[in-house]
Amino acid sequence: MGRVRRRAHDARLAPGVAERMVTAAMANPFREKQPPPRRPGGAARPAVLMLAVVDAILADLRLPDAMFVGRRAESGDAYSVVIQTGEDGRHRVPVNFDSLETFMAAAQAHLSDVYGRPVPRCPPHGHALVGRVRDGAPEWVCPAGEWRCPVGDYEERSWPPEGGAGDLAAVYCRRLARRGIKGWHTLGFSRRDGRWVAEVAIWPMDPAVIATLTQAAAPFPVVVEADPGPRLHRIVV
Ligand SMILES: [Zn+2]
Repeated sequence: MGRVRRRAHDARLAPGVAERMVTAAMANPFREKQPPPRRPGGAARPAVLMLAVVDAILADLRLPDAMFVGRRAESGDAYSVVIQTGEDGRHRVPVNFDSLETFMAAAQAHLSDVYGRPVPRCPPHGHALVGRVRDGAPEWVCPAGEWRCPVGDYEERSWPPEGGAGDLAAVYCRRLARRGIKGWHTLGFSRRDGRWVAEVAIWPMDPAVIATLTQAAAPFPVVVEADPGPRLHRIVV
């Protein structure tokens, strides 16, 4: 249960525009010291940069190992974006980049409705976080003022996620990707003596890789298995 084979998992994530945009948003485009130049048409920021923020917001609102959530790139216009959930769910949300908080609340309300639970979840309290823009930077804030994180960082900062082995494995997999860790080919989580343990098969047994695997899994321990993994054999007929 919950075991992820690396190649299959990457393939499953490949269509997720939001997945790529998390990486883009980690550059924190809103945190530039100098504001982007105002363009002749009056647009304060390039539209593509704004859509990267929209995608990062949607990625933060997505549950770890569930259905696809992302923006339908071909269905949006200058005033709205279409949120795709699963195969068939499509919901148009107005977007006004002068009022990003309004978009954050609308996208949050829609996805909380789709999931039947508040997202994104406040790690210490379990209630919904609130989308705010502070000094030009969008962030998720605990209403009690006890937790916050920049948009685009929710999954990284809220580790470990709620849920079962599949949720842990999916998020752990993305944590390794963000750290540029290669050299593993399967991972999973299992219960041992009442607590979760990460199990990772790697090859070669590189101490630097093992150290990063351990750091990324904390507070859970990691059991590393030396396994060269599946090999391809030429079939001669
Ligand atoms: Zn809270």
